[in-house]
Parts: sequence; C-alpha cells; structure tokens
Amino acid sequence: MQPRDLSDHVAYEAGRGIEEVARELDRDPSEFVKLASNENPHGPSPAAAVAISDAAGTVNSYPKAAHADLTAAVADRWGVADAQVWLANGGDGAIDYLHRATLDPGDDVLVPEPGFAYYGMSARFHHGGVREYSLSKNDEFTQDAGTVLESYDGERVVWLTSPHNPTGSTIDLEEIDRLADETADETLIVVDEAYGEFADVDSAVSLIEGRNGFAARDDVAVLRTFSKAYGLAGVRLGYAIVPDAWSDAYARVNTPFAASELACRAGLAAIDDDEHVDRTVETTLAAREYMRDHVEAHVWESEGNFVLVDVGDASAVAEEMQARGVIVRDCTSFGLPGCIRITCGTDEETDRAVETLNATLADLA
Ligand code: PMP
Repeated sequence: MQPRDLSDHVAYEAGRGIEEVARELDRDPSEFVKLASNENPHGPSPAAAVAISDAAGTVNSYPKAAHADLTAAVADRWGVADAQVWLANGGDGAIDYLHRATLDPGDDVLVPEPGFAYYGMSARFHHGGVREYSLSKNDEFTQDAGTVLESYDGERVVWLTSPHNPTGSTIDLEEIDRLADETADETLIVVDEAYGEFADVDSAVSLIEGRNGFAARDDVAVLRTFSKAYGLAGVRLGYAIVPDAWSDAYARVNTPFAASELACRAGLAAIDDDEHVDRTVETTLAAREYMRDHVEAHVWESEGNFVLVDVGDASAVAEEMQARGVIVRDCTSFGLPGCIRITCGTDEETDRAVETLNATLADLA
C-alpha cells in the first residue's frame, strides 16, 4: 500500500530554528539570532503567556466547542457579527477552511508569484488546481487589479497578500474593489492580512462591511493571524472574516477542536494587550527604516515586519550570514534567487543583521 500520487504536492519549507542550525553547525545556540520567520522579537504578549500557564491544568478536557468569548472579542475588534469570524489553527488553518468552503474538485485558485506557498498547497489538498499571476513584471512588485486580471480566468478563489510576503508591497482597497467587480460573481477574493498590523493601509474588512465609502460585498474575505504582531506563532491561532451570507458554512468545514484551548485563551488575553502590539509595531517600523538606510544593497519598501533585499546570490549570502550567526530567509524557494528576507528584530538584532549583511556582501564581492 502506497500513498496516492502526491507528485504534484510540494512540501512546505519551514524556516529552521536556532537549535537545529546550531546542532548542524556544532555551535552554541547563544551565538545565533534568527530573523528568518517573521516572528515577534519581543516574544508573546505577556498577558497571553500568563493565560497559557493558567490554563495548563485544563488540558485534559477538550477545548470549548465554540470559543464564544474569543469569537466575540474578534468580532468586536472588527465590528462584524460573531458568525463572520472563523477561528482556525493558525492563518494556515483559515486558508484550508476557505478552500473547503469554496472548491469543488477541479476548481482553480489564482495565487501570487512570488508568494506564500501554502495557498497552492492547500488548494491541491482540496483537489483544486493552481494558477499564478506575476508580481515580478515591475521592479517594485506593485499590486493592482490589472496585474491580477491579466492572468485571471474565472478561478474560484483569488489570493491577495497585503502586505505581501516576501516583498512587503500592499494593494489599495480601491483596487481590490475593482478586482472584485471585474471577476465573476462566483469568485471569492481573499485578502491575506497576516502582516496587517504593520501596514499603513486600511483592512479589507471595510469592503465586506461596506464602510469608508465602499458598498458591502459578499465576495471578499479577510485572513488575519495572532502569529506576528501578537507574538503567538507557536500556539497556532488565526481567523478569517467572511461575508455575512457565509456564516452557515463554518460549522460544516471546521475541523473539530482545531483551535486549541491554550491558543484561544492566549488569543483572548493578547487581543486586548495593545501595549505589546504597539511596542512591536514601533520596533518594526524603526527596524524597517534602519535597514533601508543602512543596508548596502537594494531594500524594497515594505509594509510588513520584514524587508526584502537584493543580494545577488541569495543562497551564498544566507549561508555565509548563518555561519556568522545571523539566520535569514533565502528567497530562492519563493522564486527570487537573488533575494533574502530579513525579519525586523529588536534594535540590537537588527543592528547585528545589517552589520553582518554588509560585511558578507563586501567579503563575497
Ligand atoms: N499568510 C502569510 C502571507 C504568511 O506569511 C503566513 C505565515 N508565514 C501565514 C499566512 C500563516 O501564518 P500562521 O499560520 O502562522 O497564522
């Protein structure tokens, strides 16, 4: 007995942690900083850490079925109905739920290239096909309706990432609205705002709810996560905000107990911890500016908690930086073999990354 033919499925390349890298290089973990996975350099929200340890003694029980308190807090944060909030096991879990709710076998999704790999992986798990639109047609990876429409051919789901991983570019709500107007009624536009807290643009929730001058839409959904600004990547908690008319579908696509009790208690504590989020955003903006000003290579404008840098040979530069103790993301697997992505760290981490990158570039030149 063998698995079915999985040759079209490509394994997700998760960034390696400090322990793993240190073990492989036979070095002490304390010699490394990791700025490769867009994690929060200040750790989790302290309130969330307390909530997790307080809940430790409850994990013999299954999670509460509906997580009604967290759902209500998220709904309140966005001014939507509780039933429009689809809690999930990370943003990745929300990607799966949206595909389960939309894809019949053979339906296609349209994804950005370069872009986040899991959209396509998830679509394939749900027996969908994957087509791409190219953001590389201009040097700035600009996102607008026209760029997507050039490749659009009636796909059931169109994925937008704003801010975009790994380039940091965003798309205006007017462009999303136009795109939704010009695509078929059966096409869902999903705006992945995993990095939304770091961006100076409005959330596409305004399009779902018909705010800020837009008419309410039933063909736009938004994805958000607790992994980045809230510092909860390890507990796996994310959600989709869906149009009102979609509310009934959640119970039918939801994996039982997928959002864990620890995750939901942490999320409930973190969502009110504005101080932690504000501090994280402040550090991120300072790091972005510092990297733009001090890296001796082209750094793209970014609205995320990372920057993309044009280094020539990404694999060589990332490997050498790692040998010097700074782990960054080689973007070859994103289809950008000339680029690395550096997460915004604490001031000290960012300083070290910049110094190490500049020295590496000079030495490899
Ligand atoms: N969307 C994008 C663009 C991402 O970069 C990530 C995380 N790497 C996710 C979604 C999913 O994040 P998580 O599952 O940790 O919420």
